[in-house]
Amino acid sequence: MLPPPPAAAVEEIAAFGRFAASRGWVPATAGNFSRRIDARHVAVTRSGVDKGAIGAADVATLALDAPIPAGISAEAPLHLARYRTDPAIGAVFHVHTVAATVLSRLDERAGAVRTEGYEMHKALAGYASHESVVEIPVFRNDQDTVALADEIEARLGRDARVPGFLLAGHGLYAWGANAAEARRHVEGLEFLLACHLEERRLRCTQH
Ligand SMILES: [Zn+2]
Repeated sequence: MLPPPPAAAVEEIAAFGRFAASRGWVPATAGNFSRRIDARHVAVTRSGVDKGAIGAADVATLALDAPIPAGISAEAPLHLARYRTDPAIGAVFHVHTVAATVLSRLDERAGAVRTEGYEMHKALAGYASHESVVEIPVFRNDQDTVALADEIEARLGRDARVPGFLLAGHGLYAWGANAAEARRHVEGLEFLLACHLEERRLRCTQH
């Protein structure tokens, strides 16, 4: 058994959980969050937890290179794979929002949701202007999250242009160097997706 995660890591995860719950982004215990502890360990939420009321017992320490014990989120392999691929990642947050769930279905075959010309692009690390195109990758959903993680890492690699991706009909993953940056990326990407969904809906009804 690994020791419990540091209190500071638990609190960062719990704080994001309260924020995400207040926005309606983690309905019915959906979503999962993680925070790097050191080069080889991360703190990850357990399964079935109310994400708006995370306590110390709801977060476990996992080793990046060891089998995942029972009771941990079924999506933990997707988190661990991101940390293994990119040592600069300090936090990974996953939410189930309406815009992420709907748009990922519409654009699954295209392989990405493409947004263009939004000021909010600047919320994403590496984007300095609204005069840019953001392509948020979309992957098929799969209950075999180990196989899915391999597929995702093969496409994203260490230099993912966008700090997030979508699972079709499922939700949004985003990450950052620390919890604050990961939260900014979740918020920025979710705002872009919400705008893009609204824009497509309006375009549909205008014709
Ligand atoms: Zn999920």
